[in-house]
Amino acid sequence: MLPPGADSVVVRHGDVGVKSSQVQANMETTLRENLVAMLGARGVPGTVEREWGRLLVRTSDPTAAADAAADTFGVVSASPAVSVAPEMEAITDALADAAREHYDGGAFAVDARRAGEHDFDSHDVNREGGDAVWQAVEGEFDPEVDLDDPDLTFSVEVRQEEAFVFLETRDGPGGMPLGTQKPLVALVSGGIDSPVAAWEAMKRGSPVVPLYLDLGRFGGPDHRARAEETARRLAEFAPGEDYRLRVAPAGDAVQRLTERTGRTRMLSYRRFMYRVAEHVAEDVGAVGIVTGEAMGQKSSQTAANFAVVDGATALPIHRPLFSLDKQEIIARAREIGTYRDSTLDVGCNRLAPSQPLTAAPAESVRKDEPDDLFEWAREVADAVERPAEVEA
Ligand code: ATP
Ligand code: MG
Repeated sequence: MLPPGADSVVVRHGDVGVKSSQVQANMETTLRENLVAMLGARGVPGTVEREWGRLLVRTSDPTAAADAAADTFGVVSASPAVSVAPEMEAITDALADAAREHYDGGAFAVDARRAGEHDFDSHDVNREGGDAVWQAVEGEFDPEVDLDDPDLTFSVEVRQEEAFVFLETRDGPGGMPLGTQKPLVALVSGGIDSPVAAWEAMKRGSPVVPLYLDLGRFGGPDHRARAEETARRLAEFAPGEDYRLRVAPAGDAVQRLTERTGRTRMLSYRRFMYRVAEHVAEDVGAVGIVTGEAMGQKSSQTAANFAVVDGATALPIHRPLFSLDKQEIIARAREIGTYRDSTLDVGCNRLAPSQPLTAAPAESVRKDEPDDLFEWAREVADAVERPAEVEA
């Protein structure tokens, strides 16, 4: 819902604001650059200014700009607004215009905030703004004020140099600006969980390098296609960055693994996978691995088995979905646009033994594991198809 003459978007950030002023300034700069890139990637005209602990987009398309801001990590909320002079008359005029355009009965409220020096305060804006709205619509409606549960809120932010009037605030993803943390390798399988996990890592500031293990006859082109789709969707949240999928040809190694292992197979498979990811991380300067594992979701994802599999790599394994139920993960996947209805039976289900162990002792896993498992991982990592050139 746009106020008439809308020409800007007020963009708020959250966790960035709890940092020291120097760190905050750097993060705001990164957030600004990311928002500029997001607007550019979507062809939305506009410039982005850093102001009073917020960002301000000046644009001829505030709806599209607010949408772009709402997909930018670090943004808590975005309001498409009209900017006016920081004077009572200009503000009440803008409120009256917005009321004539959008009020269609019911309870309303005026919610003003103010910073700077003016000859009025926020209560004055609430009162006089409320009167202006009332007078604008009383000829046609029987208006009602309800500050606690309004049907329509007219918001005002008054700053030293200008004031903003808006009717709507969209939620952003929150988190930290992408690029304010070091990168991680994201293991993406083509399933539901792993894209959500990668997205959560990005939300906290880490760019990710998506890595898919091609499991040969245990996987399939449909899985790979799905993993590629995931990488493309993640890339939409990271405009200008290279998010092409890296593919590790693991079919032969996994075949050998299934021939040589029994009940501990899935644990050795995970140890192998982390090891491949570790080598790729070294290659790309990533400092950890992110997976879509959740506590108890599968036999290999028990507390006891995490303790065994994590020993395969010196890198931290991040599991942002650790505490989530499948239904919660699915809901999030829908929100971020990585969910697909026809869900595939992704790779590792096809190589699971009939009775996998849920609490395998570390010694028995290592004893049953091929001695050269980590060498296979090295070879597979060396054979990863690297994206030919980095996209601008
Ligand atoms: P997903 O977890 O992606 O929905 P899934 O639940 O079938 O699929 P799991 O067996 O739970 O997959 O695997 C746990 C995690 O291991 C995945 O979330 C992903 O991070 C990683 N993983 C599994 N298979 C692959 C693969 N073929 N390539 C890359 N990563 C994989
Ligand atoms: Mg899973």
